[in-house]
Amino acid sequence: MTRAFIFPGMTTRVVFGVGTLAQVADEVARLGHSRALILSTPHQEDQAQALASTLGPLAAGVFAGAAMHTPTDVTETAVAAYKASGATCVVSLGGGSTTGLGKAIAVRTGTDQVVIPTTYAGSEMTDILGETAGGEKTTRRDPAIRPEVVVYDVDLTLTLPVALTMTSALNAIAHAMEAFYAPDRNPVIEAMCRDAMRAFHTALPVLQSDPQNRDARAEALYAAWCCSTALGQVSMALHHKLAHVLGGSFGMPHSETHAVLLPHTTAFNAAAVPDLLTSISDVFGAPAGAGLWDFATRIGAPLRLADLGLREPDLDRAADIALKNAYWNPRPFTRDDIRDLLQAAFEGRRPTT
Ligand code: NAD
Repeated sequence: MTRAFIFPGMTTRVVFGVGTLAQVADEVARLGHSRALILSTPHQEDQAQALASTLGPLAAGVFAGAAMHTPTDVTETAVAAYKASGATCVVSLGGGSTTGLGKAIAVRTGTDQVVIPTTYAGSEMTDILGETAGGEKTTRRDPAIRPEVVVYDVDLTLTLPVALTMTSALNAIAHAMEAFYAPDRNPVIEAMCRDAMRAFHTALPVLQSDPQNRDARAEALYAAWCCSTALGQVSMALHHKLAHVLGGSFGMPHSETHAVLLPHTTAFNAAAVPDLLTSISDVFGAPAGAGLWDFATRIGAPLRLADLGLREPDLDRAADIALKNAYWNPRPFTRDDIRDLLQAAFEGRRPTT
């Protein structure tokens, strides 16, 4: 078929390197701001306070209450803190939970965001916000959600625990996997995702035994940027739907759930579109689903939903919820297909495709 695509362009400015945290003040000023509220989780409050000290008068304070899946009650408290602080922008220092809080403030107030990602989850380059209220997670896309500036500092990832390093990277690989078959994919995203697969494949086994290895950390963070860019530009399908259902309705941990599902969703769709997933099988081994399962085993990632706290009777309800709203996927599926896929992920079976 003749080549045809739309490339929407990229609007987020990216600063990538080692020690780039020192450039955050310049980036805030470059956006025209003189007061920034710094956001973090409670776990990373010390880092946020240290950044506030470095920023001096540019820092309007620290809000260290970010939580996973962006609960709207936390956001309301944070918006009040943002307004009271006199800040005109936010600086989000942390993983996807902190980035999510910054996005939630931005979509409500129009504030600019400078994001400093410290995991590989990949929220920073996207216009997507998932929020939870009353036990339900809803997701929306809006240009106002996409951060203005992302500062990647390799040094900040040196402290990422090995287990989270692996699951977070598999979370990023899931963005690329679904980008490879996305109907709105484009050659820039495909090239970035191919490079990301190679970089993760090289870096993760090194980080397993040497988590302080700066070169491997740089490769992994670079790959995470590529995968985040993919998530921010093209449509996701079955994999992200199932991760969303398990996270939103069953409280399953985010990156671990993505990691366990990935070989199974890949295998399911590879059976229909193997040619579109050769960038996975070329790097991780063929067939693509089995290759990713073997790689996950090698890097010590979790393999069974059962080990993440899901109960077997939950699988029926998860399949029902996943079927509720129709959405595009490269391979059509029935409820039985989804139930079988979840069972395989529950047991951690090695896929055959
Ligand atoms: P997280 O942000 O919840 O971080 C997990 C824990 O690790 C936190 O306690 C955090 O403080 C800590 N941590 C983070 N970086 C660290 C580091 N370098 N050293 C030591 N500790 C560190 O986890 P996550 O997986 O990055 O993000 C998950 C959340 O992000 C979910 O809510 C998910 O829905 C969201 N997300 C959203 C998008 C999007 O585009 N909207 C994309 C990906 C993820």
